[in-house]
Amino acid sequence: MSDSFLLIVGAGFAGSVVARELADTGRRVHVIDKRPHVGGNAYDEHDAHGVLVHRYGPHIFHTNGERIFDYLSRFTDWRPYEHRVRGVVDGQEYPFPINRDTLTQLYGIELDEAGAAAFFEQVREPRDPIRTSEDVVLNSVGRDLYEKFFLNYTRKQWGLDPAELKAGVAARIPVRTNIDDRYFTDTFQAMPLHGYTRMFENMLDHPLITVELGVDFQDVRDKIARDHTVYTGPIDAYFGYRFGRLPYRSLRFEHEHLPGLERFQETGTINYPNDHAYTRITEFKHLTGQVHSGTSIVREYPQAEGDPYYPVPREENEALFKRYEELAKAERDVTFVGRLAQYRYYNMDQVVGAALAAAKRLLG
Ligand code: FAD
Ligand code: UDP
Repeated sequence: MSDSFLLIVGAGFAGSVVARELADTGRRVHVIDKRPHVGGNAYDEHDAHGVLVHRYGPHIFHTNGERIFDYLSRFTDWRPYEHRVRGVVDGQEYPFPINRDTLTQLYGIELDEAGAAAFFEQVREPRDPIRTSEDVVLNSVGRDLYEKFFLNYTRKQWGLDPAELKAGVAARIPVRTNIDDRYFTDTFQAMPLHGYTRMFENMLDHPLITVELGVDFQDVRDKIARDHTVYTGPIDAYFGYRFGRLPYRSLRFEHEHLPGLERFQETGTINYPNDHAYTRITEFKHLTGQVHSGTSIVREYPQAEGDPYYPVPREENEALFKRYEELAKAERDVTFVGRLAQYRYYNMDQVVGAALAAAKRLLG
C-alpha cells in the first residue's frame, strides 16, 4: 500500500487536503488541475496594483470546527477578521443579516430584544412545513422584509424565485433580535495571514506530492497509471453528462482598482438586492487588512453559463445528482469529494471536513 500511487483531480480545498493527508501517511500523490494555479476557487493573488484580491470572489474563512481550524493552522498563520455586510434598500444601507438596528433604521422603531422578537412574531407569515427558501424567510420575517432584502437578490443570484430553491439556501442567513452585525457568528473567524494561495502551497509542499497545472483530467484519464483517483470536479462531467447536465450557477467577476482611494465602502461587502445586475461589491482590504494607497473591489454578476461555482439546491437537481451518485458508488477506484463532486453548497470548512473524512476512509 505504501507504494500506491494516487491521482488527485483538482487542487482546491478538497484535493489539496486529501493529497496532504495521504502523503503524510507515505503515499505518493500526483495532483492535477486544469487551471494554471492551485487553490481552486479560494485562489488569491496580488493584482497589477499590488492589492491582494480573490480572483473568484470574496472568501472569508469561518468555522465552529476547532479540529478544522487546527488542521489548517499547520499551513498558515491567521489574521482575525469578522466580516460585516450591509444591504442597500431604496438607496440606504442597512445592517444585514437583519437585526434590531435594521428594524430601527428601516421603520424608526426602538425595540429591546423581546420587542424585536414580538415584532417578528407579528409580521411573520407562519409556514408549515418549511420546504423552500421562500418559506424560510416569510416564516421568520414576513413579506415586507422578504421583498426588501431577499426576493430580488435571490432571483438575481440564482435566476430562480426563492420558492424554487430548497430551504437551506436562505437558511444560511440568520435573523437576529440583538444588534450583532457580524455576517458570521462562528467561533473561529480569520483570514490566512499571507493569503489562501500561500496556505495551499504549504499544504502541497511535501516530498511525496507532485503538482501539475493546466492539465485537464479528460485529456489524461486513460494515460496515467494509478491505484486510485480522487476526483473533485463536477460529477456530471466525470460521467460524460450521461444523464444530462447538472445545473451549476456561475458568476462573472468584475475586478476594479481605484487608485488613490484608501476606502471605497464602510464594510467588507455591500449587497444590492434590488439594484444593478451584480449582487454585491466586496472591498478586499477589509478582509486582508492590507495597507495600500489605493483599493481593489469586485462586483459579482450571476450567470447560467461559465465555470461552475454553486450547485443549485432544488429537489429535481438533487434527484439527478443521486443518479450520478449511484454511478459514483459503483466506481470502486475513485473517491468523489468536494463542492462540485458532491453537489453540495459547502463552505470551505465543510469541504475540509469532507476531505479529511474521505482521506480517513481511503486509509482504511
Ligand atoms: P474547487 O475550489 O472548485 O476546486 C476544484 C478544482 O478542480 C478546481 O480548481 C478546478 O479547476 C479543478 N477541476 C475541475 N475539473 C477538472 C478537470 N476535468 N481536470 C482538472 N482539474 C479540474 N466558502 C467559505 O467558507 N467562505 C466564503 O466566504 C466563501 N465565499 C465564496 C464565494 C464565491 C463567489 C464562491 C464561488 C464560493 C465561496 N465559498 C466560500 C465556497 C468555497 O469556494 C468552496 O467551498 C471551496 O473552494 C470548494 O473547494 P473544492 O476543492 O471542493 O472545489
Ligand atoms: N440572500 C439574499 N439577500 C442577501 C444575501 C443573501 O436574499 O442580501 C440569500 C440568497 O438567496 C443567497 C443566500 O441568501 O444566495 C445565501 O447567501 P450567502 O451570502 O450565504 O451566499 P454566498 O456567500 O454563498 O454567495
